[in-house]
Amino acid sequence: MSAETRPRRPVSNLATPLPEPTPAPTPAPPPTPLTREKRPFLLDFFPLETADQTRLSRFFERLKEGVVSTTRCPKDDLLLWPPRTACPLCHGETLEWVDLPGRGHLYAFSAVLGGAPLGMESEVPFAVGLVDLEGAPLRLFGRIEGRPWNELHIGQPVRLESYDIGDGRWFYRFRTEV
Ligand SMILES: [Zn+2]
Repeated sequence: MSAETRPRRPVSNLATPLPEPTPAPTPAPPPTPLTREKRPFLLDFFPLETADQTRLSRFFERLKEGVVSTTRCPKDDLLLWPPRTACPLCHGETLEWVDLPGRGHLYAFSAVLGGAPLGMESEVPFAVGLVDLEGAPLRLFGRIEGRPWNELHIGQPVRLESYDIGDGRWFYRFRTEV
């Protein structure tokens, strides 16, 4: 069959009745606001804290008491941060809990001025930083509260504090001393 004699495929068939219009879908309910209590799990920066969720629940229990703690391997005399359930050197699981010093000095900091993580948009601008603890060989990362980010300086004294994130869970942050 040549191209000239091939029957042309109809572009449309007007004899076929048009389908009945489908009813408009029921409008979806408005999305639930992403509050601290309703963050999607994968965007939740705060760990599940209870003993049935983590073997580090002791860390969060101490936070509720106002103390930041961590684990230490007595065999290696090694202070671990963040707290762990096993020593990375000897792989031993016989670790002890120790309370961390409550004060330190700002080693470095930065400010979040935009593009905040989901659920933290209303908190912009805020500061984050690295803090050298007094009397412990640890440099911790965390939020820096107390002064605007543009009034912070390297070496600024800060203290560790714990706080309720709003849904019963607790976390730590730093606050400037002055
Ligand atoms: Zn060890």
